[in-house]
Amino acid sequence: MNNTSLIPAPLALPADLLSRDQRAVWHPFTPLSDSHKSVPLTGGKGCYLHTADGREILDCIGSWWVNLHGHSNEHIARAIYEQALRLEHVIFAGFTHEPAVRLAERLLEILPDNQSKIFYSDNGSTAVEVGLKMAFQYWHNQGISKPKIAALDGSYHGDTFGAMAVGDRGPFTAAYHSYLFEVEFLPFPDSASVESVLQSFKRLAESGEIAAFIYEPLVQGAAGMRMYAAEVLEALLQIARANHILCIADEVMTGFGRTGMLFASESCATKPDIMCLSKGITGGALPLGVTSCTEAVIAAYRSSDLMKTFFHGHSFTANPLACAAANASLDMLLREACTLNRYRIAERHREFAARIETHPAVLNVRCAGVILAAEIRTNSTTSYFNEVRNSLYDYFLSRNMLIRPLGNVIYLLPPSLFHKKT
Ligand SMILES: *Cc1c(COP(=O)(O)O)cnc(C)c1O
Repeated sequence: MNNTSLIPAPLALPADLLSRDQRAVWHPFTPLSDSHKSVPLTGGKGCYLHTADGREILDCIGSWWVNLHGHSNEHIARAIYEQALRLEHVIFAGFTHEPAVRLAERLLEILPDNQSKIFYSDNGSTAVEVGLKMAFQYWHNQGISKPKIAALDGSYHGDTFGAMAVGDRGPFTAAYHSYLFEVEFLPFPDSASVESVLQSFKRLAESGEIAAFIYEPLVQGAAGMRMYAAEVLEALLQIARANHILCIADEVMTGFGRTGMLFASESCATKPDIMCLSKGITGGALPLGVTSCTEAVIAAYRSSDLMKTFFHGHSFTANPLACAAANASLDMLLREACTLNRYRIAERHREFAARIETHPAVLNVRCAGVILAAEIRTNSTTSYFNEVRNSLYDYFLSRNMLIRPLGNVIYLLPPSLFHKKT
């Protein structure tokens, strides 16, 4: 195939695109008011987004934490194009295809070695839904009643109902609280509270009512890139394991190199029973969700009793284009150059953190791998609705940087590219 034929001519945007957008489109996490204007883009390349008015915006957050190798990556684009001409999609019940099998094998190679099967879905929320349902039915299939899930305060696991139920009950979920199933939330284990959190978890775990413990390993993303130590996570996982509670690692954000390791779960000796992946899995090109699990979980479903089947699937389960994109992304992610880029970014983050840590406006600065977060001192408390958020967002955007603070927490989560603007 001819390389140049893949690259389309630059797009001239119609002048009325923004007004048409405001009439016809409803954007996520965006108030419906005239003051919220979306920025029309003509394209993106590498770390930059190209605007209709000729600006180049540096994407400092990997487009909502999904982008690993920069925008419009040619290796991924070619893989999608070639797969589209072979087989764009097929029902995944009763059929299979090479991109899905190869991706599953490759993921099992790099995931913690107790993971033994891959279940596909569409995005992070569905990967979590699948993980929760897998855990509930694991007990159900064995005739054991364990009605509850345990989670940490401040956690975020997605926007569908099961995922919302196990996430922090805050303003974003207020309209749905009465529809969410019961979850036991543990306080977030900061340095002062670790011992009491572990004691509470131990008491809860010994009740025998907990089917699973779901957690974002090492970094709670949406809570404001809140970080906790691997030793604390290990202690929580050991309590869960000792009390026959399934451990569900939601690595939707932390997966694929974000915390320095390929998966944050590598930081613990106790390995999860179930893992949820999405976001970076296709390098940010197409939606895809993955839930992996251990042989012990699978064993509860292996039966001649049809009622023990996992009755879950989505129309686009294991979409071949998304699997091809994920395989292409993995090709690059596992190269030494990409690992090196992550180390260099992490090193720069640490240097920068050391430089700003004593700044009077900085309350707290923390790093994990390619993630850097700085909490800004304001007059009000740290929260998503802190009004400093909007002024910071506008400030950075006016300087051609996409940085989307979580309240008064400014964070960087760049693609694993390390290059200078030419
Ligand atoms: C983003 C996110 C999700 C939800 O993923 P979507 O693809 O947005 O549905 C779930 N868990 C974590 C930890 C996330 O960061």
